[in-house]
Amino acid sequence: MRRRRNCESRTVDSMKSPQCVIREEIRALAAYHVPPGGRLIKLDAMENPYPLPPALQARLAEVLAHTPFNRYPDAQGTELKAALRKAMEIPDELDVLIGNGSDEIIQIIAAAVANPGAVLLSVEPAFVMFRMIATFCRLRYVGVSLREDFSLDENALLAAMETHKPAVTFIAYPNNPTGNLFAADAIERIILACPGLVVIDEAYFAFSSDSFLERIASYPNAVLMRTVSKLGLAGLRLGLLIGRRAWLVEFEKLRLPYNINVLTQAAATFALDHYEVLINQAREIVAGRDELTRSLDRIPGVAHFPSQANFVLIRVPDAKRAFDGLLSRGILVKDVSQSHPLLKNCLRITVGTPEENAAFAAALTASI
Ligand SMILES: *Cc1c(COP(=O)(O)O)cnc(C)c1O
Repeated sequence: MRRRRNCESRTVDSMKSPQCVIREEIRALAAYHVPPGGRLIKLDAMENPYPLPPALQARLAEVLAHTPFNRYPDAQGTELKAALRKAMEIPDELDVLIGNGSDEIIQIIAAAVANPGAVLLSVEPAFVMFRMIATFCRLRYVGVSLREDFSLDENALLAAMETHKPAVTFIAYPNNPTGNLFAADAIERIILACPGLVVIDEAYFAFSSDSFLERIASYPNAVLMRTVSKLGLAGLRLGLLIGRRAWLVEFEKLRLPYNINVLTQAAATFALDHYEVLINQAREIVAGRDELTRSLDRIPGVAHFPSQANFVLIRVPDAKRAFDGLLSRGILVKDVSQSHPLLKNCLRITVGTPEENAAFAAALTASI
C-alpha cells in the first residue's frame, strides 16, 4: 500500500500523524501564497482599482441592511442568475451554474470527471489553479507548453490529446499570466478533436476583444466559465459556468447547496443591475492598459507582451532586482519569473488607476 510505504513511523500513536493520514501528493504541495498587501500599491492580483461610486455604495448599504442573514441563501440563486443572464446577455438555451469564485467551479468540474487515471490537460504557462486542483482531485495533470511567443502549439496539443485522452481541457481566453488571446480557430479545432470536455475560461472577458459566448452552444463538448472577480467584485467570490444543460445538470450535483452566501447574492445582484458602471470601469482599465504599455515603450531594457486582459506581462533584465526595487518603492507586482522557463525574467503587472500606473512606471525606471 502506497500510503503505508510513505509513512515511516511504526508506533500506533505516530500512525495518527498527518504524515500517515494525508495523501502524499497533498503533503508535497505548497499552499497558494498570497502576499500581504498592506499599504502597498497592489498591482499583483488583477483587481479592479475602482470602487463603486459613492451614491451606489449608499444604496448597496441599504440593500445589505435588509438582507436576511439569519436565513440560508437561495440555494438556486434565482435572482442572481437572472441578473447575470441579463448583464452578460447569456443565450436562453444555455444553463448557468454559480460558483464561489471560478476556482470553485474548476474544482467541481475536476471532481466530476475524476475517474481513476483521468487526465486534466492545459497549456503552460497558464492559470496555476488548473494544475493545483487537478492534484486536489486526483487527476493526472498534463501541461502542453506554449510557443515562445505564447501562442498555442496546436500540433503539440492535438498530439497530447491523442496520447492522453484528457477528460477535461482548460483553456483561458485571454490567458493568464501571458495576457494574450489564442487563435480562436485553433481553439475550435482543439474542441472538435478533444475526446472530452473543453472549458473556455473567460476570466478576462471584460477587457478582451473576443469571446466564445455566442459560439459555445454550437459545440457538444465545450462550456464557458466566467467570473466577476476581475470586473470589480473580487471580494464577493462569484464565478459562473455557462453551457449545455446535459453538462451542467451533472456539475450541479457537486455544487454545495449554499455555496453563494446571502451577502454575495444580494451585493452581486445589485452590482449587476448597474452593470454599465462596471463595464465603464473596465473600459477605463483598457485605456489605462494602453497608456501603461506606451510608457513601458519608453523604458529602456523593458519588453512587454500584447495583452487583452487587465494586466501586462513584461520582461526585464533582472526580475528579482526589478521586483525588489518596485517593492521598496511601495509597489507590489507578481514575479512569475520562476514559474515557467518561458517566463524567464518576467513580471505580471495589473493595470491600476492612471496615478498608480504612472507611479509604477516611474518606480520601474528606477528599479531596472
Ligand atoms: C483570476 C482567474 C480565475 C479565478 O477567478 P475567481 O473567480 O476569483 O476564482 C480563473 N481563471 C483565470 C484564468 C484567472 O486568471
